Amino acid sequence: MNDVYLSIGTNIGERYENLQHAIELLIGKERVEVVRISSIYETAAVGYTDQADFLNIVVYIRTSYSSSEMLKVCQAVENELGRVREFRWGPRIIDLDILLYNHENIETESLLVPHPRMYERAFVLVPLIEITPTPVGEQLQRAHETLKQLNCQEEGIMLWKESSDTRFMPSLK
Ligand code: ATP
Ligand code: MG
Ligand code: MG
Repeated sequence: MNDVYLSIGTNIGERYENLQHAIELLIGKERVEVVRISSIYETAAVGYTDQADFLNIVVYIRTSYSSSEMLKVCQAVENELGRVREFRWGPRIIDLDILLYNHENIETESLLVPHPRMYERAFVLVPLIEITPTPVGEQLQRAHETLKQLNCQEEGIMLWKESSDTRFMPSLK
């Protein structure tokens, strides 16, 4: 079994439903166990800033999929939700990125893990740290250390819905 952290973001349409739908699709995959889901955070767009605010979560899953298979699963979920790629960093119904895959460093043409921009992004680090209170391994420790340096107020990240709301996790105990 492989320990994987995914970042999921959305800024088009019914954002909450988009997150919920993505999680339901992940739960529906036979070889994926959704273990933990962070609270939902809202952030203004970075990069191309002339677009709606994002909702972001981090999800911890266990899976027997290889990293390249897992990338395909993420892309399949994006497609099932109807993601259309217009331009990089533009608005999107859903974006699923692999942040960490075990403790591996992966560099292929289609996959870079740890996600190359994760340490710069409060909207990734805040939910990631929320669900990994005891950081195990160099990558999570770096995430914790980096977050301490970031000013979350400046980064404009806000708690939008706490994960204790079980309606968000319909199939989880
Ligand atoms: P960012 O990577 O800055 O978050 P993005 O998520 O909007 O941008 P996408 O359009 O979703 O970018 O993906 C572009 C490409 O990134 C994909 O085709 C995929 O092959 C590649 N990629 C590389 N590393 C990863 C990763 N860790 N998770 C998901 N996609 C990745
Ligand atoms: Mg992304
Ligand atoms: Mg992506």
